Amino acid sequence: MVRIGTGYDVHRLVPERKLILCGIEIPSELGLLGHSDADVAVHALMDAILGAMALGDIGKLFPDSDPAYEGANSMKLLSEVISLMNSRGFSLCNLDLTIIAERPKLARYIPAMRESLAAAFGCDISQVSVKATTEEGLGLAGAGIGCQAAVLLESVR
Ligand code: MG
Repeated sequence: MVRIGTGYDVHRLVPERKLILCGIEIPSELGLLGHSDADVAVHALMDAILGAMALGDIGKLFPDSDPAYEGANSMKLLSEVISLMNSRGFSLCNLDLTIIAERPKLARYIPAMRESLAAAFGCDISQVSVKATTEEGLGLAGAGIGCQAAVLLESVR
C-alpha cells in the first residue's frame, strides 16, 4: 500500500532572525519568524508525512503553546515524525518540496538541503527533491517564504 500526503506552510521574513531551510542556515539579512526555528520547508514536509498517515498536523503534535518547542530545531522534530512514520510501518518512497521565495536566491543551497533531508530519513538522495521558485513579485513571497510539500509513503508491513 502507498499513501500520499501534502503539506503547506508560510513564515514571515523579519530582521534579526536566522534563515534556516531544510536544516541548512542560509546567509540572509532577513530570517523567518516563528515559535521554533521557523524552518518552513521542514514544517511543510512534516505536515505531508503526517497527512499521508492521517495523523493530523504538526500543530497537534508539537503545539506552539508548549514552551518546550520555543526555538526548537525543526530537524529534531522531523526525526520524531520519521520515528512515528517508521513505528507505523511506513517508509519513504520519495518527497518533493517547492520553496516559494523572492529572496534570497536559493539555487546554490539546494544540494545541501537535499543531503540534509536524505540524512534525516536515512534514504538515497534520489528520493529527495527540493525546488525553489518565486511568485514573480505577485504573491506573498517577499514578505515571507512558503513551502509546498508532497510525499509518498509505502507500507513496509
Ligand atoms: Mg510553520
